[in-house]
Amino acid sequence: DYLKKIRNFSIIAHIDHGKSTLADRLIEKTGLVASRDMKEQFLDNMDIERERGITIKLQTTRLSYKAKDGEEYVLNLIDTPGHVDFNYEVSRSLAACDGAVLVVDATQGVEAQTLGNVYLALDEDLEILPVLNKMDLDSARPEEAKAEIEEIIGIDAEEAPQISAKTGLGIDEMLEKLVEVIPPPEGDPDERLKGLIFDSYYDSYKGVVIYTRIFDGRVKKGDFIRMMNTGKDYEVTEVGYCIPSMVPSKELKAGEVGYICASIKQVADARVGDTITLTKSPTEHPLKGYKKAQSMVYCGVYPAEGEKYENVKDALEKLQVNDAAFNFESENSAALGFGYRCGFLGLLHMDVIIERLEREFDLNVVTTLPSVIYKVVMKDGSEIMVQNPSNLPDPADIQRIEEPIVSAEIMTPKDYVGTIMTLCQSRRGNMVHMEYLTETRVQLHYEIPLNEVIYDFFDALKSKTKGYASLDYEFKEYRAAKLVKLDILLNKELIDAFSTIVPEEEAYAKGRTICAKLKKLIPMHQFEVPIQAAIGQKVIARETVRAYRKDVIAKCYGGDISRKKKLLEKQKEGKKRMRQFGRVEVPQEAFTEVLKFD
Ligand code: GDP
Ligand code: MG
Repeated sequence: DYLKKIRNFSIIAHIDHGKSTLADRLIEKTGLVASRDMKEQFLDNMDIERERGITIKLQTTRLSYKAKDGEEYVLNLIDTPGHVDFNYEVSRSLAACDGAVLVVDATQGVEAQTLGNVYLALDEDLEILPVLNKMDLDSARPEEAKAEIEEIIGIDAEEAPQISAKTGLGIDEMLEKLVEVIPPPEGDPDERLKGLIFDSYYDSYKGVVIYTRIFDGRVKKGDFIRMMNTGKDYEVTEVGYCIPSMVPSKELKAGEVGYICASIKQVADARVGDTITLTKSPTEHPLKGYKKAQSMVYCGVYPAEGEKYENVKDALEKLQVNDAAFNFESENSAALGFGYRCGFLGLLHMDVIIERLEREFDLNVVTTLPSVIYKVVMKDGSEIMVQNPSNLPDPADIQRIEEPIVSAEIMTPKDYVGTIMTLCQSRRGNMVHMEYLTETRVQLHYEIPLNEVIYDFFDALKSKTKGYASLDYEFKEYRAAKLVKLDILLNKELIDAFSTIVPEEEAYAKGRTICAKLKKLIPMHQFEVPIQAAIGQKVIARETVRAYRKDVIAKCYGGDISRKKKLLEKQKEGKKRMRQFGRVEVPQEAFTEVLKFD
C-alpha cells in the first residue's frame, strides 16, 4: 500500500527559531537538488521576505528518505507563513498535513507564536514531534526547554530530538523519529476527488499554479475540476510534484501532495482553503474551514507627483493576480486626486505590497494613513463599513461607531509584566487574564482595539522588553466605542488624506501631536501656513509655519551663475518629493510620519 510510505508534515516554529534553516538541511539531506546548487533558505523565495527573515508565500517540497528499516519514504514538507497576519494560510497548510515538527529554539524556549501555531496544529488533529534546535550554542538549555514544552503545551518532550539545523547535528535521528511518529495519510484513491488548496501563485506561462493535498480520489491532465466554494470549472493542463521545481506526473492521488495547473487567470479563483473536485462526479462534502480573505487594514495608494495613474493601476492588478488577500478599488481624494483604496491582512502585508510597488514596479507612490474598518450604525438602523476615515458620515446621522477588537496573547519573562501592562493600558487594552506559565514566564491575555495594535505596538513591545516579549493576536469582534473623526486643515483647507478616526478622549492630544509634527515637516513658504486640527467645525489645535523673511534666490543675484543653478536644481529636486495642497507644499513622507507617536 503506497500510503504507508508517505508522510505529510509542516515545520512550525516561533519566528527565528530555525524553521527555514531546518528546511534547508532536510532538502540538502533528502532532496533532489544538489547542495552546491542550493540557495540558502530557498523555501522563502521572495527578496523582501528574505531581507526581513519572514516567510509569506507557502512552498512545498517532496523529499525522499531511505529509513533505517530499508524502506524509501516520500516526505512532503509543506512550508507555512511565519507571521500573525497570515494565520488563516497557516491553518490551511496545516490542514494539508498529518503531522508537524515543532521547532523550539533551545536557547529561548516556548514563545507566543510557538503556542499560536501549536494550537492551530492541534485543532487540525496533527501529531506533533517536538525538536530542540540550536543545540550547537553554549546557551542552549534543553532540559528547561523540554520542561516548558511539557508544562505549557502539554505534549511529551522527553524524547525530543536535540538538533542543530545549522550544523546538521541530530538531523538523521530526527528523520527516523519523524517517520515513526507522524502517521501516514489516510484516503481512498477510488473515491470521488477531494483536494485541498493550501497555496496558489500566478505563473505567467502556466497561469495559476495550485498546491494541493489530495484527500480522496485522483486527478490527471484533461480532467475538468471544480472549485467548490467559488463554483468555477477548469480543464486541467498539468499535474505533478514539487521537488521543489515542478515535475509533471501522470496523476495525483489520495494522500499525495502536488500541483495542478488549469489555465486559471488569477489566484482569487483558486483561493486557499477551497476544495477541488471533479466536475462530472463531484464529492458531496467539501472540506471544512473555507474562509474568504478578509482585509483588516486599509490605506490609500496614490501616484506620487509625476507618476502615472495607469502605471499604478497596472502594478496593483499584477499584484492582485498573485495575492488573493490583497484587494483594491479606485477612490478619489480632494487632496491627492485619483488613487486606490487598498485592503490588507495587516500592516506587515501592507508594507510588503508597498515595498513591492516601489521595488519591483519602480513606482513612486504616496500612501495615506492606514486605517482599520469601522462599523457605523446609522440612526435609521442601517449599517455601513467605513474603510476610509474621510467617508465617515455626518455624526448627526450616526447612532454608534464600532471598532474591531483583537484578542492578544503576550508572553514575557516576569520582570516585564509591569511595563507591558502600562503599554497595553495606554493602548486602550483590557486585561482578560494573566497566568504564570512557569516560575519566570508569564502569559498576558488582552483585548485591544486593532487600531491601537497596527501602528507600532509590536515595535513598542519589543523595545520595552529588550526583545523578550512575544505577541500573537487574532480578530475577536466589533465593539462600540466613543470615536470621532479628526480633520487636518492646511491654510484653512481640509486635507482629506490626513483625516483619522480617534477615540474622543484622545482627540485633543492627538490633534496637538499631529499639528506639531506637521509643523516640523512642512517647509517655510512665502506666506504663513496655519495648521489646524478640527472635529467637525471645531478647531481643537493649531500651529503655524512662519513665512520666509527673505528670498533665498535673491541673495544670488549678481553672484555665481552656477551656484544659482545648483540651488534651483536642489529646489526642483526637493519639490519632486513634495505634494501641492492648494498653495501649500507638503513632503510626501508626512503621511507616514504623522501617526508615529512615541
Ligand atoms: P525561522 O524564522 O524560524 O525561519 O528561522 P531561520 O531559519 O531563519 O533562523 C533564524 C536565525 O537562527 C538565523 O540566523 C539562523 O542562521 C539561526 N539558526 C537556525 N538554526 C540554528 C542552529 O541550529 N544553530 C545556530 N547557532 N543558529 C541557528
Ligand atoms: Mg523563515
